[in-house]
Amino acid sequence: MVLNTRGWKCNCCGETEPLFLELDHVNGDGGEHRRTVGTNLMVWIIKNKFPTTIQLLCSNCNKGRFINGGVCPHRKKEVLKGVVNVHGEIQICVSLKHLIGLEEHDKDKEKEQKLNDRMMVVNKDGDVWVFPVKEIHGIHHVHPDLFQNVPVTISKSKSTFTKEIFKWEDKHVALLDDELLFYSLKRSIQ
Ligand SMILES: [Zn+2]
Ligand SMILES: [Zn+2]
Repeated sequence: MVLNTRGWKCNCCGETEPLFLELDHVNGDGGEHRRTVGTNLMVWIIKNKFPTTIQLLCSNCNKGRFINGGVCPHRKKEVLKGVVNVHGEIQICVSLKHLIGLEEHDKDKEKEQKLNDRMMVVNKDGDVWVFPVKEIHGIHHVHPDLFQNVPVTISKSKSTFTKEIFKWEDKHVALLDDELLFYSLKRSIQ
């Protein structure tokens, strides 16, 4: 059942062979969680409507993630872009696109060439992160009543970081789980 709602796919490399797939706790708290729910992990997952804190990974990615401090070696290379100089200070530049696992369209690639020198600097609890971005729409306040449930059909790792969905100017916008996002970023560069 868990497999069916998320698709039979490794959340990292897309492996589809069911025998290779394993359940994984996204933020690495599996040991602790298993102790509290005991052997009823599957029951817990169904009761909690397939929470995004649980994902499917193939054995390789699961193991790679474990050995590599929480981030599969597949992701690590792509996430860490290098360092950039922001107002005289050296900051780490990371690719959110690769961390979240956004697909790229050819159309976007053309656009990216024109716009790829745009960077966003985010300060999260004293840690500074720099991301290449395509567009910035400013800061908006969203009333919690506008939040919709994240559809179970949302693909792969995108659902991992998506907390809520809301409509804005005819678009569906994903509100990301900032705690999980920056936690994963931290792990990804260690
Ligand atoms: Zn995999
Ligand atoms: Zn992987």
